[in-house]
Amino acid sequence: MSVKSINPATDQVIKEYKEHTSKEVKEYISKSHLAYESWRKVSYSERALCLVKAAEILRKRKSDYAQLMASEMGKVLKDGESEIEKCAWVCEYYAEQGEEMLSDLHVESDATESLVSYQPLGVVLAVMPWNFPFWQVFRFLAPALMAGNGAVLKHASNVTGCALAIEDVITDAGFPKDLFKTLIINSDQVESIISNEHVQAVTLTGSTPAGKSVASIAGKHIKKSVLELGGSDPYIVLEDADIELAAKTCVTSRLINNGQSCIAAKRFIVVSSIKEEFEKQVVSNMKQYTFGDPFNDVDLGTMARKDLRDELHDQVVKSIEMGATLLMGGELKDGKGAYYAPTVLTDVKWGSPAYHEELFGPVASIIEASSEKEAISIANDSFFGLGAAVFTKNVERGKKIAREEIQSGSCFVNDFVKSDPRLPFGGIKGSGFGRELGPFGIKEFVNIKTVYIK
Ligand code: NDP
Repeated sequence: MSVKSINPATDQVIKEYKEHTSKEVKEYISKSHLAYESWRKVSYSERALCLVKAAEILRKRKSDYAQLMASEMGKVLKDGESEIEKCAWVCEYYAEQGEEMLSDLHVESDATESLVSYQPLGVVLAVMPWNFPFWQVFRFLAPALMAGNGAVLKHASNVTGCALAIEDVITDAGFPKDLFKTLIINSDQVESIISNEHVQAVTLTGSTPAGKSVASIAGKHIKKSVLELGGSDPYIVLEDADIELAAKTCVTSRLINNGQSCIAAKRFIVVSSIKEEFEKQVVSNMKQYTFGDPFNDVDLGTMARKDLRDELHDQVVKSIEMGATLLMGGELKDGKGAYYAPTVLTDVKWGSPAYHEELFGPVASIIEASSEKEAISIANDSFFGLGAAVFTKNVERGKKIAREEIQSGSCFVNDFVKSDPRLPFGGIKGSGFGRELGPFGIKEFVNIKTVYIK
């Protein structure tokens, strides 16, 4: 059995990789566990040195890795380079802050001394997606390794080259041999990995079906899980918003990574009095984006796979059939490449895919609301709860809505949602559970242990 990397701009197979057998997988996990047994005793400062080295290597290879992403999943080169920079940042962040985050917490009790100590768990399985092939892995891996864990990676089948490149970075940075391993496997091997005695936990970023499957297997085996399952982020534009800023920000966010981002703005919920002007400005902003071969000087590359592009187009067509108006884009061109033109839908109706589902591509959905109250209710009328944003010139009003009203893991005021190593990241409702990044992320895969001395 093998997995293939296919260039989504040309439909050509770039490389075929032989899958690891279940026997090989078992051996890799055992070796990672052995490496973890010594790694957990290594000092924080030595662990930090490896992370700093990883950051250095990433920066040195930035251009190569951007090219690899462009050829495996269609990301434009400048975005690929920024992604690698961000991976370097998260490595440095945990190298600098990890020790303090995990220092003992002394608690007054009736003991002579009582404290909370954060101990590593062991080998963690990461199941990761193709949209940010490096970043999704590093935002889990940097804190997990800093905390003293080992890890095995099951990356998305279309980005095996990236998965192996990540393994190279970790090896070359001086982490112990075998501590981290990329497993080239199909998702049907995931259950046996989770059930392996040396695997203590699993983290998954991806679709709802994949998350449901992995979390239920983890539950069956009583293993900890963290899930990041995407979203349908609502961006509320109130009547007192700076329309120019709102339209520009909504479009920027919607088109991040060609729309294939879990925290992209997906539903633009705009109050009636400014709807027409907002629509005009959204379309005018969208028209400024060029798209084409990711190796050329364009803003947007291809989508990652043709099947995903076709699925997106079906969602657009169904939404139009159910009453949405197409303002631009929306056509499927025959021929090579998983291209999809930036598309704007307005008057999106309840019940249609653009209202309820995650549209994972360059498609903006505008929904009208009669008031702030209705806008909030539409924003929360979703299976998902990952990110959200509110646009208003009244900062206090925006802050109140962001803090108290919106059901999401994060809500930004007058800006688009972005992940930042210093801030926790994750969702509620159908978007999953657990947090990555910041001091919360590094504590997901540790044993929060109470030590009590009489
Ligand atoms: P998947 O969720 O299928 O892929 C993500 C990862 O999960 C991949 O490594 C995949 O492996 C693995 N996986 C899939 N099914 C299972 C399973 N049953 N058990 C264990 N692992 C599994 O995403 P798709 O590529 O199919 O994309 C479909 C949709 O998912 C997108 O359109 C988007 O809506 C959402 N998505 C959300 C992401 C996010 O950032 N939250 C990222 C990617 C997708 P393999 O590649 O081998 O199937």
